[in-house]
Amino acid sequence: MLIDVRDIADRRKDFSFNEDLTLSRSGIDIPCTVAVTGQVYKANGDYITEGSIKAVLNLSCDLCLTSFKSELDMDLNEVYSETPDPDKELWELSDKTIDLKPAVIANIMLSLPMQVLCSEQCKGLCPKCGHNLNDGDCGCDRGYVNPQFEGLLKLFNDE
Ligand SMILES: [Zn+2]
Ligand SMILES: [Zn+2]
Repeated sequence: MLIDVRDIADRRKDFSFNEDLTLSRSGIDIPCTVAVTGQVYKANGDYITEGSIKAVLNLSCDLCLTSFKSELDMDLNEVYSETPDPDKELWELSDKTIDLKPAVIANIMLSLPMQVLCSEQCKGLCPKCGHNLNDGDCGCDRGYVNPQFEGLLKLFNDE
């Protein structure tokens, strides 16, 4: 995702990239297909990129491990400088070339939730047999205590 800014001068320059990337989140690979389009222009010596990032991510659910696709559509607004000011959040560019990829990856990573779930109601896996509980119950006893024995257990615990 490299943009040569040598010929920019006063005009806006279009860019468009399609690329397959593999992101890494907590050691887990996330393959994704990314389409980045937009324009770059020069302002006060810096280079401004404006556009959009469209991505299809192949995620897997943190609870039930099922893989699913998730689509992202977001704005791309980044500033590139040849002399970045450490107080400002600017990207550095060298050799009159912008490399959009780190910014695109950072934007996608920031949009991912702390916990990736296939759905809000995901029931996860049975801790006993590993059955995907979204597909129905497996019949395992997962900590259920028969009320008949509850009094008995209390006796033991009180001793
Ligand atoms: Zn799930
Ligand atoms: Zn089970």
